Amino acid sequence: MNKKNIFGLILFIPFSLQVYAENYLIHAGKLLDVKKLKVNQNYSIRIKDNKITAVEKGFIKPKSDEKLIDLKNKTVMPGLMDMHVHLSGEINKTSYSERFFLNNADAAFRSTVFARKTLEAGFTTVRDLGELFKGVPISLRKAIDKGYVIGPRIYAAGKSIATTGGHADPTNGVRHELMGDPGPEQGVVNGPDEAMKAVRQRYKEGADVIKLTVTGGVLSLAKSGSNPQFTQEELEAVVKAAKDYDFVVAVHAHGAEGMKRAVRAGVDSVEHGTYMDKETIRLMKKHGTYYVPTITAGKWVGEKAAEEGYYPKVVQPKAAAIGPKIQSTFKKAYKKGVKIAFGTDAGVFPHGLNGREFRYMVEAGMSAFETIQSATLNTAKLLRIEDKLGTIENGKLADIVAVDGDPLKNISLMENVSFVMKDGKVYVNK
Ligand SMILES: [Zn+2]
Repeated sequence: MNKKNIFGLILFIPFSLQVYAENYLIHAGKLLDVKKLKVNQNYSIRIKDNKITAVEKGFIKPKSDEKLIDLKNKTVMPGLMDMHVHLSGEINKTSYSERFFLNNADAAFRSTVFARKTLEAGFTTVRDLGELFKGVPISLRKAIDKGYVIGPRIYAAGKSIATTGGHADPTNGVRHELMGDPGPEQGVVNGPDEAMKAVRQRYKEGADVIKLTVTGGVLSLAKSGSNPQFTQEELEAVVKAAKDYDFVVAVHAHGAEGMKRAVRAGVDSVEHGTYMDKETIRLMKKHGTYYVPTITAGKWVGEKAAEEGYYPKVVQPKAAAIGPKIQSTFKKAYKKGVKIAFGTDAGVFPHGLNGREFRYMVEAGMSAFETIQSATLNTAKLLRIEDKLGTIENGKLADIVAVDGDPLKNISLMENVSFVMKDGKVYVNK
């Protein structure tokens, strides 16, 4: 091999900036068992590289190659997971014109800040349910996995899939000449064949999950916030294609008819669920569909709708009507026994405030411990990754967070996480 070839080889060796410099031993004053909903006092957690290798009663002594982390005054729990975020953007008064002024690279750099805030808030895993700038969440995921950027583990949907004029049709509301006729590649489908094609297109682009907008939505430039926007046949085609690629399917839905069609087709989670009725609840229980409430986004848009000029004219009445209802829908669904997976829709409100959702869930009647379970064990089950995340157990990935004091007595402590470990690396230790 001559000199030139060797140099070429070196350039192509894949490398990673991620280093696992230390092995750790954590002393946890209170350790939450989110499976049994039990508090374990005075436990030790052993971490080697990116995995938990032992969970033992008592404060054991660190080995010579282990660094001790003292969390004796804290409540320790698995890394939190948010099943509904949009890391490629953050909606505010001026964001509707961003797509004309921002390049994807601009949005990509900005998304690194959102990712860091999310991780520092204790969310070590998120599901990004729809990109606002093409390719950004998937590229962000890769950059985080490689260690170039600090952020949570991301399960990305890529572009949300809508029907023409539907909630996630990217050309809604613009001048007719600019509307064009977007297709499956842009996430707009009509008919079962195109629906299948869009799922396969997401696979090709490297998506991890599928997101559909099966009813109207609040923040799109379109009139209805709740009408059904997919036919039964289209939904069945999506689910059929998604199964081939082992995609988890999430559906944005406010209106009951769209939700029922989606649940019957076999989707995995319903997001928002605002106008969920008795029949929808019955169907969700029957099919084991998760409900991802996003109360935080609902409250936020409800408040902002009262500010003159915050949202475009076509959006304001939808935000005022739908936003404030989500918390009471959650209350009803929880009482009736629908499975709940924690999700906020961060990006509709500022990233990093995800922890507010815990307080809103408790306000609506869920116990503090169950809200934490919904953001750990339940989310891991929804993503079908409970073999590696969601609990603090031997063999699982070392995603561990802690808060000062007792969040089971004061749930708002979840809004101020003081220790964050992801994949065996410490990112916050206050
Ligand atoms: Zn969303």
